[in-house]
Amino acid sequence: MSADFLQRCRDIAGPEHVLTDAADCAPFLTDWRGRFTGRALAVLQPNEPQQVAQLVRACADHRIALVPQGGRTGLVLGSVPDASGDAVVLSLSRMNRIRALDAVNRTMTVDAGCILHDIQQAAASVDCLFPLSLAAEGSCTIGGNLSTNAGGTAVLRYGNARELCLGLEVVTPHGELWSGLRGLRKDNTGYDLRDLFIGAEGTLGVITGAVLKLFPQPKGSMTALVALAAPRDALALLTLMQDQCGASLTGFELMSDYCLRLVATHFPHLPTPFVKRHPQYVLLEVSSSESEAHAAGLLEDALNAAVERGLADDAVLATSNAQSQSLWHLREHIPLAQAAAGKNIKHDISVPISGIADFIDSTDAKLQQAFPSCQVVCFGHLGDGNLHYNVAPPEGQPHDEFLAHQDAINRIVHDSVDEASGSISAEHGIGALKRDDLARYKSKVELDMMRAIKGALDPLGIMNPGKIL
Ligand code: FAD
Repeated sequence: MSADFLQRCRDIAGPEHVLTDAADCAPFLTDWRGRFTGRALAVLQPNEPQQVAQLVRACADHRIALVPQGGRTGLVLGSVPDASGDAVVLSLSRMNRIRALDAVNRTMTVDAGCILHDIQQAAASVDCLFPLSLAAEGSCTIGGNLSTNAGGTAVLRYGNARELCLGLEVVTPHGELWSGLRGLRKDNTGYDLRDLFIGAEGTLGVITGAVLKLFPQPKGSMTALVALAAPRDALALLTLMQDQCGASLTGFELMSDYCLRLVATHFPHLPTPFVKRHPQYVLLEVSSSESEAHAAGLLEDALNAAVERGLADDAVLATSNAQSQSLWHLREHIPLAQAAAGKNIKHDISVPISGIADFIDSTDAKLQQAFPSCQVVCFGHLGDGNLHYNVAPPEGQPHDEFLAHQDAINRIVHDSVDEASGSISAEHGIGALKRDDLARYKSKVELDMMRAIKGALDPLGIMNPGKIL
């Protein structure tokens, strides 16, 4: 039966785009962090939406599960197949065309397999901005970004992937092609199907195209690194910056001293730019639609007010693009420094912004009580209430030994998140990794509604099974 299925796929996509050889399939089967390698019947590489539709129909007819895959940078085992070897991977990597650019409507229509960085560049070529920005932007695809409702560093000003998308083109689990590629900012014509597929992690259909929102390019931006005593001061600084700079505040990233020490240890060309150590740092970015001088003025005035109110202990202002990039490199190198330091237990959580300081204080204390001297690597998009709250072993303890406590540590952190009315997955999604946690923290009524939607759209259960639910 699988021979018939594979022949049908070859007839649709061309024999060279149906990979079955183990070596050819290997790059598509292991997750980004190398923690899991699945198996697949084949890797399918369509190059247009109609091919995707025909391949999905073939999967439905043969009851074969499929795993949509973009850049494979997701961090929750969503885009790799399980170990059964029964599913196919449907890679969107060949579908990478910019279909249309409309600078007046400020929209861009793209294939789902377009790399995020290429989309940013295409927007810049017509003097526009596509603001979604994350450290994986050179590899991740817009289809993956939308399927995980990706966030990143500009959510504070522009929102996450959901808010940056006006329309979608989707292949349903029955293999029908739905074109919802509308570049409309207002459309109240019933249920918003687009919003169902965004953040669905490939469990409801395959996104093949999208209409994205573009924005005017800022005329200038200014970056600063501020040293402070505690997360509570960072919250007060956020309020002050928002009051003084309004929508011009485009970045607000919290990093603990331990994070920057890790970066300095593993990337010695990126030292912390202060003589003295401080417990916490905030990376700030202010952008202006007028000029760089205007952005600098806004930032300097706000920082002076912060110093007067005793919120900031010290600050460095970037005076060139290169300096600004070095400051952003500090932030971007934290995950890389952590990877170089060894395995750790990651959490990608959000709590209401006003509750962040209490969350950090109380969770740090609970962890120290249960696992004395464990190291917390806490950094993230404070302006969105989103923290990467990762836990590493005490100095000298082998990382694998510490990882044996993963379930207990997850329970402490996620119970704390739950108590703070937060979310156990702010950015990365659920995938296979957090499926059990989702069942633990979502209410029955919420899970029942999710299962009803899944059952209605994908009654055969072929679309990325084992993910989310
Ligand atoms: P994949 O990993 O290939 O897939 C992710 C999920 O989407 C899977 O469930 C997959 O089945 C599904 N999917 C993929 N394409 C489609 C499609 N066309 N149709 C339907 N379903 C599909 N995430 C953030 O939100 N913010 C960050 O700041 C951030 N920083 C990161 C930094 C690094 C260094 C890394 C490695 C990852 C980071 N991530 C971040 C996570 C990751 O980059 C995002 O989740 C990204 O959106 C995934 O895109 P992708 O193309 O790699 O998707």
